[in-house]
Amino acid sequence: MRLLILGGTAEAAAIAEQAVARSGVEVITSLAGRTRAPRRVPGEQRIGGFGGPEAMAGYLRDERIDVLVDATHPFAVNISANAAAACDAAGVPRLMLVRPPWQPGPDDNWIGVADGPAAAAEIAARGFRRAFLATGRQELPAFAGLADIWLLVRLVDAPSEALPLVNYDVVTGRGPFVEDEEHAMLSRHGIDVIVAKNAGGAGSWPKMAAARRLGIPVVMIERAETQAGETVQTVADVMAWLERFPF
Ligand code: NAP
Repeated sequence: MRLLILGGTAEAAAIAEQAVARSGVEVITSLAGRTRAPRRVPGEQRIGGFGGPEAMAGYLRDERIDVLVDATHPFAVNISANAAAACDAAGVPRLMLVRPPWQPGPDDNWIGVADGPAAAAEIAARGFRRAFLATGRQELPAFAGLADIWLLVRLVDAPSEALPLVNYDVVTGRGPFVEDEEHAMLSRHGIDVIVAKNAGGAGSWPKMAAARRLGIPVVMIERAETQAGETVQTVADVMAWLERFPF
């Protein structure tokens, strides 16, 4: 059985690790190529966009892919839509792994927003001075107009050119993160608000736990509609789904 995993998440790597250990399964993990040195996962790896849904359908046929697991990040909505169309066209069964979104507890102060521009408007309107942006590089243009707010931006790779921001500094880091380290970083930089995406999962949660301990509010970019299709929440569920196929 040839399994294509759409990756870029810790869960995708875990699926690859477990699937290669099964006899009769050939595993290919596909990455977008957004980071310079992606973690090596077991099995084959391909890097870069397919060129849209029709091209992905062609890839599925050419590579004789039997099943596809879409374990991309919950905010990577374009690739999930492309995968749905491509699998329909090529007749390939598809499963999505979607982590449940985080839920605030009684000690959290979360301000829910729909997208990056709404998050930028919110931190400006509420008079915050020092924001930690944990949104990823693609959201940064939304914060370009915030000249009076100092922004601490966390990226996987150090940027090779100036970011589209006025008043900022960069820290690099790749999850999973550690609560005490997040706490120390937020304290050291005098952060008074965090901007995050509601990614779910354990690896990025420590900043939320640290925010709770420090009493720092979180402007939380909530998810848009998710892609239709069969969906599970855990790696174990994906492995159980794969058992349905003869191999
Ligand atoms: P996106 O907006 O859904 O996808 C944009 C385009 O990138 C897709 O149309 C596709 O190009 C290509 N692409 C995305 N994921 C791919 C994959 N796994 N393999 C091959 N091509 C892929 O995605 P995004 O938000 O830019 O995220 C890119 C990747 O980073 C995803 O794989 C995701 O799992 C990971 N990631 C995203 C976030 C986030 O916050 N968005 C956070 C952590 C990790 P073509 O149309 O040319 O095929």
